[in-house]
Amino acid sequence: MDAYYASPDTSFYDSTLERKFYEQKLRHIGYKPYPNDGLVTFGASGTNMCDRQLYFKNDKGTRAEKSADIPFRGRQRRQGTAVVDYVQLDILHMPKRLGKSAPFTMAVRDNGEWDFEDAAQERRVLTHPHPETGELISFAITAKPDGKFDYAPDGSRIIFEYKTKASGLRPMNGKLDYKGAQDDHKRQVVAESLVFGIDEALIVYESTHKPSWFSDEESSSVTKGQKTWKEGAPLTDMRAFYVRITDVMKTQLLNDLARQAALVYAGEVPSVTVEMTDKCGFCAFRGHCAATLSAGNLALLQRAESAMAHGSMAGKAAHKSLRNYLAGVTEISEEEAA
Ligand code: SF4
Repeated sequence: MDAYYASPDTSFYDSTLERKFYEQKLRHIGYKPYPNDGLVTFGASGTNMCDRQLYFKNDKGTRAEKSADIPFRGRQRRQGTAVVDYVQLDILHMPKRLGKSAPFTMAVRDNGEWDFEDAAQERRVLTHPHPETGELISFAITAKPDGKFDYAPDGSRIIFEYKTKASGLRPMNGKLDYKGAQDDHKRQVVAESLVFGIDEALIVYESTHKPSWFSDEESSSVTKGQKTWKEGAPLTDMRAFYVRITDVMKTQLLNDLARQAALVYAGEVPSVTVEMTDKCGFCAFRGHCAATLSAGNLALLQRAESAMAHGSMAGKAAHKSLRNYLAGVTEISEEEAA
């Protein structure tokens, strides 16, 4: 990718490729419902939900909440979508611009379409034993990857996922140095592997914050922690992680999904646990979750919060998440009382 973006040719698209790309996109515009087979369907990118969120998502009587957000977040979401769009078009140009030095190329389907997004979408029904009861549970996973690549040296296929990060160059690199690819992104490619039968994946991160155009190392107006160049080179704005998807990873995910699907089929709303509150930030059922929390469940969470506040967990991420959740519950009860 660096070879491609360093080339002056990157600024121009080949009109035949570009037209074909947009024509493919046009063909797939529109809503495609899942088959009505009564099975819980997990989106590959949504296999990290808490039990209760998954329950609400599959409950016909519960609607996802659409509340106003801080405007920059809307712009940030749009930016992420737009970046993936142009990266896919750029990847289609790589064989033409880079010749044999482009080892990864977008795979082509039997019908001639490139193997990404809606053209690549598949829903696969799976049956797996419940990890505790052993009962066979059926559910589906649907996936539409950012791409499937052909890897020229050995002719193999590899899943491609592209993630933008707006946290800044240093925070992005610091986090990736420390933990590698994000757990939920790894779960996503494991889910995709179960759908497509491809056991390798590339998760690529791009920071939307870029280094200063020219070196800022000597600039006195940029503080040390804000510098975006180091030892004469810009900090990297792109990181790639290779994931080899093992049978153990697949079984772990299948166990989780079978357990969660069984909860939905059983028709009982799962209680909120301390661990679940870790996932509330992007949940679209926050109001409903708080409004339907039982008194017993609330008391349990309040006791856990109090224990955390007086122990070594005080102020840590898990404690903050729990406190935020409980604050949401208080807000809802106050609104209801008013
Ligand atoms: S608000 Fe939090 S606990 Fe409730 S369903 Fe959403 S993620 Fe789960």
